[in-house]
Amino acid sequence: MTGAIRAPFSAPKRVADRRFDQGKIDLASLGWSGFDPLFGLAIGAYILYSAAHIGREAIQMLMDHELPEVQREQIRTLALNVPMVRGLHGLRTRQSGQSLIIQLHLELDDQLPLLHAHRIADDVEAQIRAVYPDSDITIHQDPASLGREDAET
Ligand SMILES: [Zn+2]
Repeated sequence: MTGAIRAPFSAPKRVADRRFDQGKIDLASLGWSGFDPLFGLAIGAYILYSAAHIGREAIQMLMDHELPEVQREQIRTLALNVPMVRGLHGLRTRQSGQSLIIQLHLELDDQLPLLHAHRIADDVEAQIRAVYPDSDITIHQDPASLGREDAET
């Protein structure tokens, strides 16, 4: 008795289920349609992120600048006045907001022991730091015979 009642109702249900299943399969096999909005959001977010990044770099570039020549000359003099320093090249300075970055190459005697070369570089750094206390100083120690070959690094 119950089987006879169930049959007419369950048949249309199965058809509907099958359509639903087919719908799911079609969507999956077509693939993209369900993901398009997500890709759109992802690309939009990426573009915004890139724009913010580029904007920030541009602002920093506008704010960054070399120290005035008078101060650059002062740094050269400070370094060259340290005993055993034979020359100097590749001086780069960068003032960015509160931070000052100073890089330079010292020309030192070819045969100087590394320990001495290091001490001389420390002296140069101390001399510069006495005038520019908050600076970030990088000193490259070159054998004098190499001259300025690697100046533009
Ligand atoms: Zn050098």
